[in-house]
Amino acid sequence: MSISSLVEADRKHLIHPVVNYRAHEARGVTILDSARGSFVRDAEGNELLDAFSGLWCVNVGYGQQSVIDAATEQMKKLPYATGYFHFGSEPAIELAAQLVERSPASLQHVYFTLGGSDAVDSAVRFITHYFNATGRPQKKQFISLERGYHGSSSVGSGLTALPAFHRHFDLPLPNQHYIASPYAYRSDCADDAALIAASVSALQAKVAELGADNVAAFFCEPIQGSGGVIVPPAGWLKAMREACRRLGILFVVDEVITGFGRTGPLFACEAENVDPDLMTVAKGLTAGYAPMGAVLMSDEIYRGIADASGGAAVGHGYTYSAHPVSAAIGLEVMRLYHEGGLLANGQALAPRFAQGLDALLEHPLVGDSRHRGLLGALELVSDKDSKAGFDAALKLPDRIAAAAYRNRLIFRAFGDNILGFAPALSYTAGEFDMLFERLRRTLDEVLAEPEVRAAL
Ligand code: PMP
Repeated sequence: MSISSLVEADRKHLIHPVVNYRAHEARGVTILDSARGSFVRDAEGNELLDAFSGLWCVNVGYGQQSVIDAATEQMKKLPYATGYFHFGSEPAIELAAQLVERSPASLQHVYFTLGGSDAVDSAVRFITHYFNATGRPQKKQFISLERGYHGSSSVGSGLTALPAFHRHFDLPLPNQHYIASPYAYRSDCADDAALIAASVSALQAKVAELGADNVAAFFCEPIQGSGGVIVPPAGWLKAMREACRRLGILFVVDEVITGFGRTGPLFACEAENVDPDLMTVAKGLTAGYAPMGAVLMSDEIYRGIADASGGAAVGHGYTYSAHPVSAAIGLEVMRLYHEGGLLANGQALAPRFAQGLDALLEHPLVGDSRHRGLLGALELVSDKDSKAGFDAALKLPDRIAAAAYRNRLIFRAFGDNILGFAPALSYTAGEFDMLFERLRRTLDEVLAEPEVRAAL
């Protein structure tokens, strides 16, 4: 098909995730055609530097031959195996064992899903089953963070606290509650310690309001991704974990973005020695080469469910749970992170990423720079003192995304004037230089637009 007929067919038939449908019809699709290393090529042959790893998932870069080979071999050998009826496959079992070995010691059992949303959904189902099975059926209230993102399932998008995921969807559910995000740039707290204390007391207050006996769990991301790359102070995650323990509620950490080297260690939990009751992962698990997610859980939760099922099947499963091709990809991706040196490369180049973002703080449009590992953001403001944002009518994120594209650079321009970056762990030093050269040029060009100048 020609590009124009593809664009037309897309407009007519293909519904895209998380876009405004009418805006998409008017604008048309941008077709991506191929990719190699840190670059993707569109259908018109433009080579774009990908500073977002697809959707924060292609952590190993594109075109890794060993991953392609692992998938090909597995497809030839056994392209599918169900996990039902006590069947399984070698790569899925090996990957589960590796995840347990490399994740916090509290996590002993793995349930594979197709992505992050159903990992979160599975976590909620397992928690519900666990409390029902262990004689605490009243523990049904869930707490998460404002600006949190926990996927797009019917239940998970209620734990997600972003307006577009609730509006017109009859969400949140009555048992879903939120506390404030640890958003240092826009908080009144005097310092990091005060911000951590404020989060802990907000959680305590919410649990007291709902009644500790009624609260099942607190869900959080170690760094909030889709909510605008909100990086909490060091020590925050640990403090929230300890608070959950004191309050008698489960602590669920959603490492769908932060897992697999994105923030430095394999999991962000490691940096603070945090041992969650459950952990959800996806994205970097297969680096986007095939869909897969997982929920990891403690032995206590697994045993609570296992011991109470009384011979009946635990009614939770997907046709593609523990898909052998995805698992084979996951094993090779895991090898690349470790023996392949990608975790080490990401850690070695993280200071360059941090310096590049921080250097843009002197740009007239930039109010905040925040980052950990290879996950970072710039927040744009019209006035650095008051931290005032821009009028939505200016469509600054659209202007920036368009200018970046002209400069052959892809990242995420969030609606609230936050620019998110998640380069692959396989980036070279030269690609970081290219990223920041193109980013600065993009910001300068947008700043030169008369409507933007007038808004400052
Ligand atoms: N949790 C978090 C923290 C995420 O960032 C995402 C996806 N961006 C999800 C869950 C949902 O994952 P998926 O899109 O694979 O369903």
